[in-house]
Amino acid sequence: MLQQKIKHLAKQYKKEFIGIRQHLHAHPELSYLEFETSKYIQQKLTEYNIPFEVKATTGVVGIIAGKSSSSRIVALRGDMDALPITEQNTVPYKSTNPGVMHACGHDVHTTCLLGAAKILQQTKDDWEGTVKLIFQPGEEKNPGGASLLIKEGVLKNPAPQCIFGLHVNPQLGISKLSFRGGKVMASADEIYITIKSKGGHAAAPHLTADTILIASHLIVSLQQVISRNRSPLQPSVLSITSFRGGHTTNVIPSEVKLMGTFRAMDEEWRFKAHDIIKKHTVELVHAMGAEADILIDVGYPTVYNNEALNEYAKGIAQDFMGAEAVEETEVRMGAEDFGYYSQIIPGCFFRLGTANAEKGTTSGVHTPTFNIDEDAIEIGMGMMATFGATAHFLA
Ligand SMILES: [Zn+2]
Ligand SMILES: [Zn+2]
Repeated sequence: MLQQKIKHLAKQYKKEFIGIRQHLHAHPELSYLEFETSKYIQQKLTEYNIPFEVKATTGVVGIIAGKSSSSRIVALRGDMDALPITEQNTVPYKSTNPGVMHACGHDVHTTCLLGAAKILQQTKDDWEGTVKLIFQPGEEKNPGGASLLIKEGVLKNPAPQCIFGLHVNPQLGISKLSFRGGKVMASADEIYITIKSKGGHAAAPHLTADTILIASHLIVSLQQVISRNRSPLQPSVLSITSFRGGHTTNVIPSEVKLMGTFRAMDEEWRFKAHDIIKKHTVELVHAMGAEADILIDVGYPTVYNNEALNEYAKGIAQDFMGAEAVEETEVRMGAEDFGYYSQIIPGCFFRLGTANAEKGTTSGVHTPTFNIDEDAIEIGMGMMATFGATAHFLA
């Protein structure tokens, strides 16, 4: 009954929310600078009569109380930041903010959460408990808006028992959703290494330490550090992505800088690997006669999806969309700051299919031609509202 009502409302509001998505898409803002987006969300919540608080400068946290409001508390999260990419789509709602684009679909996530908010507010006499709406800034950039909101108490007063978040997937067909329990995305840490010697004449390498050669050895050897210390059953990847040093043919540079990323699927191995990488870097460089500085900037944790909650959510989604519409999410080495929430409370991070070859919406996220089949908005807002109104989960 309630599910049918929600489905009906999502259909009824589809056009309105496609308009909202196009407005957000045309006005993208970079991580932690989502001032207009935040204002827009606040206006919409005011219009729906939903009380809210502003947290972490641009974050907005709304509360909808249903019947017996303390019986069940569910959080729904939508991220709202855009990327430093110049949009190449020629749609009428193309980005009006030069060099900034909603290329990861966070405009869609915000829209789906606003849509769910409107539906939940309208049906609040039909469901029990409280829904916390988390409009989150800064997903695309360290330290991650999720970590800031958690520091500001978003998971307390009232404390949600579980949290749901969705992400568009342009590799998944329209009208499909995907779920998976367990570890679904990797941790991501940034590596910065500087190798220093006094430098010298290229014709007299014996009078200095060759930073270029040492850096080359280090890059090769770091690959083996990872492959020889990690269990072969445990996914993990280290990529050195930048090598900067030297500017002419006859000088051995006094400094070489390397940058890279380290990703893992296991928190224990992740921090053990940091120690190995640091020790190996310092000792290898030292053994070859130079000095090394290494900084590992700790980023997002792995995204762990509570198995029981995801199994449960998958069942709800199958009821909502039909069994054939629900697939298994693939594991990815990408990262998401949703992992901060799901390390503390049971989380379900699921995917919303947006691919439609006929409409040309198959470009990957973070590309200048990314776009979605807007039919996904009705599904995303209906699904989020359904989880908000019906998910029962006590860990
Ligand atoms: Zn992204
Ligand atoms: Zn994203």
